[in-house]
Amino acid sequence: MTKNGKMIMEIIYESAEHLTAEQIFIQAKEKAPKIVLATVYNNLKRLVDKKLIRRVTLDGSPDRYDKPTRHDHLICDKCGKLSDIHLDDLSNRLERDIGMPIVSYDLNIHYLCEKCRGKSSPEH
Ligand SMILES: [Zn+2]
Ligand SMILES: [Zn+2]
Repeated sequence: MTKNGKMIMEIIYESAEHLTAEQIFIQAKEKAPKIVLATVYNNLKRLVDKKLIRRVTLDGSPDRYDKPTRHDHLICDKCGKLSDIHLDDLSNRLERDIGMPIVSYDLNIHYLCEKCRGKSSPEH
């Protein structure tokens, strides 16, 4: 792995948040001022291909990058807040249901977070 690849992986592993490529770029620049955004994108792609990091794809907002450990996501439909949840691994169950081995699955559960639920007082 290249030095940049290693650095980008560390940024993602050390972050408690789900960073976008731009946010990773900003942090990478602090450590390696000469790095360009294209390098970040190339490395992110390579790390995803090697399954060293995980890409979280969301409708209407940029992809986020995450640790590869098995977990699922809760997404607030109003403010876009993304939280980790740890559910049982459904792989066996899914394989049984579809009758074929699976490679992976992504489970995004959409909800309204507490803050947004609190705000949703009747507007009419
Ligand atoms: Zn919310
Ligand atoms: Zn996550």
